[in-house]
Formats: sequence, structure tokens, C-alpha cells
Amino acid sequence: MPLPDLGTIDWDVLDYLGWIHPDGHIGYLVVISPTDGSVKGVSMRRSRFTSGKRGFEMCSLCHHVHSANGTAMFTIAARKNGHRHYIGNVVCKDLDCSLRLRNLVNPPSYLNETLYPEAKIWRMQLALHKWLRSADRL
Ligand SMILES: [Zn+2]
Repeated sequence: MPLPDLGTIDWDVLDYLGWIHPDGHIGYLVVISPTDGSVKGVSMRRSRFTSGKRGFEMCSLCHHVHSANGTAMFTIAARKNGHRHYIGNVVCKDLDCSLRLRNLVNPPSYLNETLYPEAKIWRMQLALHKWLRSADRL
């Protein structure tokens, strides 16, 4: 697994660590488990996502609204009753939700929310934990 340059990461502004494989088809996500405090990682398949509505797309984790091609479909392979299945989510394509919630990347969201940053971060963590838990990865 190719790792990002850990020396250049500003950990204070990250709710999770996410990066994309150089070939663009795999994303990696690392979080601290809210259950036991351990470090959990997951690899996800990244595929193109196109929305039907005028090219606007919303990240299901951070709720940032992008113009076309700002999000991608990330799927996690999971196992249930011996069967393999995939649980997907539409997420910011560079896995930079934490930076978007803190307005550290441009352009800003197309949807202006009057929600405190802390509330947005909390909402994102809930959505992320729910997703990972449904894939049994937390
Ligand atoms: Zn996002």
C-alpha cells in the first residue's frame, strides 16, 4: 500500500486520514475507532460518480456540495453470512472532507450551511462511523 507523505500532514485539522492510490482507483481511510480507541484502516474502491441533477453533487460525509466531478463513489467490501457485498458512499473524491469542513480548500461549498463547524464535524464523524460499522470495519 502506498503511503502519503506523513511528514507534511497537519494532523490538527484532520478527522480522518484519507488518501488515494496513484492509479486513482483505490482510496484508503484511517480512523481512530470510537469503540475501543484503536486505529482502523480500510481500503475502498473508487469509481466515478455522476449525479443527474445539473452536475451538483453532495458528499455524504461532510455535506460539501461540489460542482460536477467533485465526488466519487467509494465502496467497501464487506462480508455478511459468508457472502461478499459492497457498501458504497458518495464522498469528496480526494477524501479531503476535513479540510472542506474547515474551509481550507477552494472552491467553497455551493450550499451555504448555517451550522457551526463543530456540529458539521460531529455530523461527519457520525456518518463515517455508521458507514464503517455497517461494513464491520470499526
Ligand atoms: Zn466530503
